[in-house]
Amino acid sequence: MSKLETRLIHAGRPHRSDGQAPFEGALVTPIFQTSTFHDASEADSGYDAVRYTRLSNGPQHLVVHERLAALTEHELALTSSSGMAAISATLLALGGRVFCSRHLYGGTSHLVTHDLPRLNIPCDIATTDDVAAWRDELHPDTRVLYVESISNPTNTILDLPAVVDLARERGLIAVIDNTFASPVNFLPARLGFDLEIHSATKYLNGHSDVIAGVVMGRHDLIRQILSLQNHLGGSLDPHALFLLERGLKTLALRVRHQNVSALTLARSLEGHPAVRSTTHPGLHPERIPVSMRPLLGGVGGMFSFDVGDEASALRVLKALRIATHAPSLGGPETLVTRPVATSHTSMPVAAREALGIGPGLIRVSVGLEHVDDLIADFTQALDVSLVS
Ligand SMILES: *Cc1c(COP(=O)(O)O)cnc(C)c1O
Repeated sequence: MSKLETRLIHAGRPHRSDGQAPFEGALVTPIFQTSTFHDASEADSGYDAVRYTRLSNGPQHLVVHERLAALTEHELALTSSSGMAAISATLLALGGRVFCSRHLYGGTSHLVTHDLPRLNIPCDIATTDDVAAWRDELHPDTRVLYVESISNPTNTILDLPAVVDLARERGLIAVIDNTFASPVNFLPARLGFDLEIHSATKYLNGHSDVIAGVVMGRHDLIRQILSLQNHLGGSLDPHALFLLERGLKTLALRVRHQNVSALTLARSLEGHPAVRSTTHPGLHPERIPVSMRPLLGGVGGMFSFDVGDEASALRVLKALRIATHAPSLGGPETLVTRPVATSHTSMPVAAREALGIGPGLIRVSVGLEHVDDLIADFTQALDVSLVS
């Protein structure tokens, strides 16, 4: 099998049986801006076999799905209209009681604690990061184990081999949101995760111009999720598919650059008198479980730093000139947010504080600018926050 960088560019391109180049010889997969396709079948082949863009079976869907499956080393992949569409379709399709890590993206946290229980899908949240202790917290009806590879915004990394072992021991379906790590830094399929989800809005597309989600995994499970998504309706449209396929080609280059820049920036911030702490795992290697160290190619472009209180954090955000105050992550532009005001607003204050998500915490998504300019920008903003 070719290497990741090559698969990002070539995997999934169709081969025509007559040896001709696909898509009239176009090098790049064209945008098939069509809702439906000519039906050449004579027999009734069933609803999901009709070619229709909502059913995620147009030519672009097939290319992007095969590319995603190849690069993540899963059997099948499916695109969705957002990361949350992928997560909700997955958990609804699995349909059983969910046990989640306590480090969850805000939208996912609300989904599993408020929305799914109303649909008779109960969810339990772990009270600890000690995976061995989860044995006692699982409910007899638990069917699904749900974790994130590197958590938002604290960069917590769990003992993921232990998570997969626990799932095997109890016959659970192991699901991971791998958005923060990206397939460049971590490949959950190699550990045995049954399903891997990404907000493709972030690193996979990587240009801050698409909302998209993906889920990859075991053949039978992806077929089940596809069948439900066909009726829920959250398929990805042709223009977004075009941008996602284009963005994927540079994923490895972008993420490796961001891995290095984020560590360099975090290291420089840690020495500033206005900064109480940073979460970058590269600066706290003891927080990375031993079992995970050989499995991570890097820890990505995300980290947070704490300046103590809300007023100081707001002064820093206001003084930054290159970094933009905006939610989201994984694009070329460096972005900063206060998680208490964005991704984690709906989480109860006590739960937030227990995770170290306080009012002075600023999350950084390191972009593709030169790191020297980023260091200068953050340093002047922190200096301003000290004098005012
Ligand atoms: C952004 C994000 C999501 C949700 O993705 P959308 O594309 O915004 O729906 C889910 N999980 C993580 C870790 C995220 O960062």
